[in-house]
Amino acid sequence: MNTLTFPILKLLCDGKFHSGEAIAKYFNVSRTHVWNALQDAEELGVEIFAVRGRGYQLPNATTLLNPQTVRACFESPPHWLQLEVHDFLPSTNSYLMHHMSTCTHGTCVAANLQTQGRGRRGRQWQAGLGASLTFSLLWRFQCGASALSGLSLAVGVALIRALHALGFVQAKLKWPNDVLVDSKKLAGILIELQGDAEGPTAAVIGIGINLHLPHHLKQQIDQPATDLTSMHGQAVNPNTLLATLLIHLKTVLETFETEGFSALHDEWSKHHAYHAKTVKMLMPDGREIQGLVQSVAEDGSLLINTDHGLQRFVSGEISLRVLEK
Ligand code: ATP
Repeated sequence: MNTLTFPILKLLCDGKFHSGEAIAKYFNVSRTHVWNALQDAEELGVEIFAVRGRGYQLPNATTLLNPQTVRACFESPPHWLQLEVHDFLPSTNSYLMHHMSTCTHGTCVAANLQTQGRGRRGRQWQAGLGASLTFSLLWRFQCGASALSGLSLAVGVALIRALHALGFVQAKLKWPNDVLVDSKKLAGILIELQGDAEGPTAAVIGIGINLHLPHHLKQQIDQPATDLTSMHGQAVNPNTLLATLLIHLKTVLETFETEGFSALHDEWSKHHAYHAKTVKMLMPDGREIQGLVQSVAEDGSLLINTDHGLQRFVSGEISLRVLEK
C-alpha cells in the first residue's frame, strides 16, 4: 500500500473536507501523490467523497484505535497484555497464526482496517475503516485441543459481559459463536488452534464487532446484520470497547482454563438467543436438520429435539438459522 494512504486517512478522520492542495502541502508532496494514495484507499474498500472545489472527506468522523488510549482505559496497567495496533491487515487471525512462534501469551493484534477477514469454513467477515472493531488475541493453554471444545462459547460470555457493561443489554448469544441483537448479527468469533493433541495448545481468538456498518458493506452480508451505533444512536469509541472486551476476556479465559465451560454454562444459557425456538441446522455435508432448541449442555454442545428424538450437536462446522422468531 502507498505509504501516504494511512497518514492521509488519519487526517480525514475528523470527517471534514480537506482540499487536495492542503493535504499535498501538509505532507509536502504533489497533488497527484495525494490522489494516488487515496485511490489505494478506495481499492481497499474505504469510501471517500471527492467534491470538486472542496476536496476529500470520509462519510463520517471516525475514531481509530490507538494503543495508548486502549491502555489508558484499564484501571491498572495491563502487564499481561502485548497490544499491537496495525493501520491495515488482511486478517488479524492470519497475522497471529503466522507470527505465533514469536508472540507471547496475551498478545492482541488489532487492525483499523481489515480487508480479508475470515469466518468459519472459508466464509468472509466484512469489515471497513470505522465500520468495525477487528482483533485477535493469542491465549496459550496447557491442555490439548479436545479440552477446548467450549472455548468459543466461553468467549461469547466475555463479549456479553463487556457489551452489557457498556450498556448494550440487548446483546444475546447464538450457538456456537455469534452475538445477535434482535436476531441480527452484531459480532462473530473465529477460533483457530495450534498444538499437540495432549497439549499445550495455542488459541488465536478472533473477534469482529460491527461499530457502524455503511450501507455498501451491509449489502455484502448475506444475513441480517446490525451495529453498535444503530443500538446506541451515537458512535462508539473502539478504544473503550477493545479495553472492556480484553478485561472481560482475561477473566473469562482464566475461569475457562481452570474450571472449564461448565463454570460459565448458566451465564451462557441466560443470554441464549434461540432458547426454545425452532431452528434449522445447516450441516457441513449440506443436510438440513430442523428441531426445537432444548438447551446448551455443560460441555458446550447444543441439544435439539428433532423428529428422531433428542440430538446433540458439537460446534465444529454447523450453522444455525432460526425458523420462528
Ligand atoms: P453463520 O452465521 O452462517 O451461522 P458462522 O457463525 O460460522 O455462520 P462466521 O464464520 O462467524 O459465521 O462469519 C461469517 C458469516 O457471517 C458470513 O458468511 C456472513 O453471513 C456473516 N457476516 C460477514 N461479515 C459480517 C459482519 N460484518 N456482520 C455480521 N455478519 C457478517
